[in-house]
Amino acid sequence: MTIGNDLRNAVRGRVLVSGEEGFEQARRPWNLAVEQPVMAVVEAEDADDVAALAGFAHLAGLTVAAQPSGHGATGDVEGVILLRTGRLDEVDVRPDQRVARVGAGVKWGEVLAAASPHGLTGLAGSSPAPSVVGYTLGGGLSWFGRKYGFAADSVRAFDVVDAEGVRSRVSADSDAELFWALRGGGGDYALVTAVEFDLYPAPHLYGGRVMWPVERAPEVLAAFREITAEAPEELTAWFDLLKFPAIPALPEFLRGLAAVTVDVTFLGEGGEAQALLRRLDKIDGAIMDTRGPLPVSELGSICAEPTDPGPSTFRGELLTSLDDAVAAALLSEPIDPLVSVQVRHLGGALARPAADGGACGHLDEPYLLGMVGSLAVPELAPALKERQDAIAGLLVSHTSGRKPYNYLGGGEKATAAFPGDVLARLRDVKRARDPRGVFRSNYPVLD
Ligand SMILES: Cc1cc2nc3c(=O)[nH]c(=O)nc-3n(C[C@H](O)[C@H](O)[C@H](O)COP(=O)(O)OP(=O)(O)OC[C@H]3O[C@@H](n4cnc5c(N)ncnc54)[C@H](O)[C@@H]3O)c2cc1C
Repeated sequence: MTIGNDLRNAVRGRVLVSGEEGFEQARRPWNLAVEQPVMAVVEAEDADDVAALAGFAHLAGLTVAAQPSGHGATGDVEGVILLRTGRLDEVDVRPDQRVARVGAGVKWGEVLAAASPHGLTGLAGSSPAPSVVGYTLGGGLSWFGRKYGFAADSVRAFDVVDAEGVRSRVSADSDAELFWALRGGGGDYALVTAVEFDLYPAPHLYGGRVMWPVERAPEVLAAFREITAEAPEELTAWFDLLKFPAIPALPEFLRGLAAVTVDVTFLGEGGEAQALLRRLDKIDGAIMDTRGPLPVSELGSICAEPTDPGPSTFRGELLTSLDDAVAAALLSEPIDPLVSVQVRHLGGALARPAADGGACGHLDEPYLLGMVGSLAVPELAPALKERQDAIAGLLVSHTSGRKPYNYLGGGEKATAAFPGDVLARLRDVKRARDPRGVFRSNYPVLD
């Protein structure tokens, strides 16, 4: 018997094994720069099918890596069975209880679309495309994190499958240690089949992007620093240096443009937001301003990040300040060949330990740096890494060395995401719950 036959006997979902038609497409992650040398791909039918797969892997001495989308793919999947969860597509928004329950294949955009008509939001990030479960297992840094903390700390319960293929519901009451680990410690301890989490009121949401030619960057960064120094927790602002590629898919005015933007959301009425953002209006020469009342369902339009798969490289750093030296370093040279150098304002609830919070902990650092490069031209890889390293090098005395789990990049380890005591506790959970290594997350805690 081949592994393909064994797997088809074990699960009801589609199985694809190396050499079979459709395998190459099925193993491809969202980040097309990442090669995935997996043994097989299983598209589970439902939660019972996920349990059947875990039970099979346990008995066969094999490893399963869950990957709804591949936004966080690292390539550390040699010889594993890749689990696709797209058919676990339940979206159940209960406005009266302000809670949502979603399956492990659901993307943030689907939740926002379902919550929006009720004037509610979940703690989504910049893109509608990552899965709710993958994002939340890694902590989940949302537009609304300053007000409500990490997305992981808004979870009420997970439905999981353990390393022997047994299903259960995990909450603070039923299994406090696993519940803690799943809230920000990554996907190493169980396969999640569904998650239930709090929704928050957003009857009035204001947001959008203001863009200027990059020559305005010094004024824009100065305004961003002033705005974020005083911002209430309802206001979130991100600063971005962008270099758009000269491709026909973009509107003509953006092709090849070097630009600076401030992206904002405000949980409240537009008039209040406009007053808080007045400094931006004093900067001449804006070439785009999309700010205005925004339905929750349109949150992803602010940054308009690509939702289709593409090849990219990423590096993140937590900034301990955004003082004159950091500002000067950020503006010292054009960002080319990178496409984006972004500074997100953190603080607020993200900086406070949550009551009974998860492994995501809290972030003392007030700003988060993210550097993105496109690998559409693969030969650019060394130059992109050099530029990321050069910017990180200029900022080395202003970065903490820690990175949020969701902000780890290729080649980095989970050790960079957690303080020592948290990592030790996560490793204990991993050894106790999955001693034979049936599960492999993208950044394994034991590496
Ligand atoms: C364009 C873009 C924008 C982003 N914006 C943000 C942002 O604003 N805030 C933020 O915090 N992060 C952001 N991220 C990072 C993103 O949240 C992480 O990459 C996250 O891991 C993506 O989850 P996924 O399930 O979509 O990806 P995948 O690569 O499919 O999964 C990532 C990992 O999650 C685990 N996992 C997923 N599903 C399961 C499951 N059912 N059971 C067990 N483990 C599972 C696995 O370990 C898997 O390797 C962004 C990433 C991209 C590419």
